[in-house]
Amino acid sequence: MSETQTAAVVEQFGQPYTIKQMPRPKDPRGQDILIRVLAASYCHTDAVFAAGLLSQGLPRIGCHEFAGEVVVVGPDVPSSRGMVVGRRVGVPGRAYHPCGTCFECTHPGQDEMGYSPYCPYAGNLGLTRDGGFQEYCLVDSRQVALLPESLPTTQAAPLMCAGLTIWSALQHERVKKAQRVGIIGAGGGLGHIGLQFAAHLGKDVFAINATDHAVELIRKVKTNLGEAGKRVQVSDARTEDPDVIRSKGQPVANVSPTEIGLDAVILLPESQKSFDMGMKLLRNHGTMVVVSFPKDKLAVSAHDLVFRDITLVGSLVGRNHQLREMLEFVVKYQVQVQVNTFPFDRLNELRGPTNHGEGGKLVIDMTL
Ligand SMILES: [Zn+2]
Ligand SMILES: [Zn+2]
Repeated sequence: MSETQTAAVVEQFGQPYTIKQMPRPKDPRGQDILIRVLAASYCHTDAVFAAGLLSQGLPRIGCHEFAGEVVVVGPDVPSSRGMVVGRRVGVPGRAYHPCGTCFECTHPGQDEMGYSPYCPYAGNLGLTRDGGFQEYCLVDSRQVALLPESLPTTQAAPLMCAGLTIWSALQHERVKKAQRVGIIGAGGGLGHIGLQFAAHLGKDVFAINATDHAVELIRKVKTNLGEAGKRVQVSDARTEDPDVIRSKGQPVANVSPTEIGLDAVILLPESQKSFDMGMKLLRNHGTMVVVSFPKDKLAVSAHDLVFRDITLVGSLVGRNHQLREMLEFVVKYQVQVQVNTFPFDRLNELRGPTNHGEGGKLVIDMTL
């Protein structure tokens, strides 16, 4: 293994990545493993970070959703974890070196190994620690998952943030109980994965978007779902009224107006307009799950909370046990991530609004 490697570094906010030769990460200590990166997915948060809108410092190697193969195992990694040289692993950005002792890490319901994506002492690969836009990366054996043999690496990488985030939202206890579930932004990176998850979970899915490209992707995913696709209602928010969307599939006669609507709505776009639409789609006692985090505040009508008993919750990337459950589910139901792959030296082409957010996920294939 060479002592140097190619890496893409954010050296200045608002500037392209500097793609350069630099020393590869040192051999792992403790519970860490060194992996050779095989696929690295470009997330919206990478763009937000590179634009300087988060508080972390520079220089930094970005990417917090990637996959690779183990090349060196740290001395304290238990063999029971199965992380042997040559095994492929998927890496979510959170949580590098969780403390294992804080409230977040020990609260009942957490992973047995003390992992929490909320641990305030843990690092975030691609944000506070170097991430996957490099040939080799140091990762924490506690934060990663072994990849199923049949799952291609370029499919696995975008599941590590986009997939796990939307999986986590669907696993929220209030969404689990919901039957009629809306996904606003269903034709985007998270959305098109989420609508497959939701359909295979047996939900009646209301897949909503507002661009030609996104609506086209939703229709394509619905077709590919076959039988499960029959549970997916496709809506174009530009032309369909929320009152029409919310009553689809429901007998409007003989039902009181407060019973009509969706049980839960998952909000993916970063806009007040989308939020307002989601609120209109919910029936009384419904749940709004906020996944996006716009820079400005979202305005919520207290009227909706008080008179309609709407519950508003947020949802972050999932936990380690959810990561493993998601991977099993992906293989079982053959969930397909729509990916566009690029060689590493074209990473800078993925920046900018034209290339992300719609039509699937952008993934660097390090083997190209
Ligand atoms: Zn992400
Ligand atoms: Zn902790």
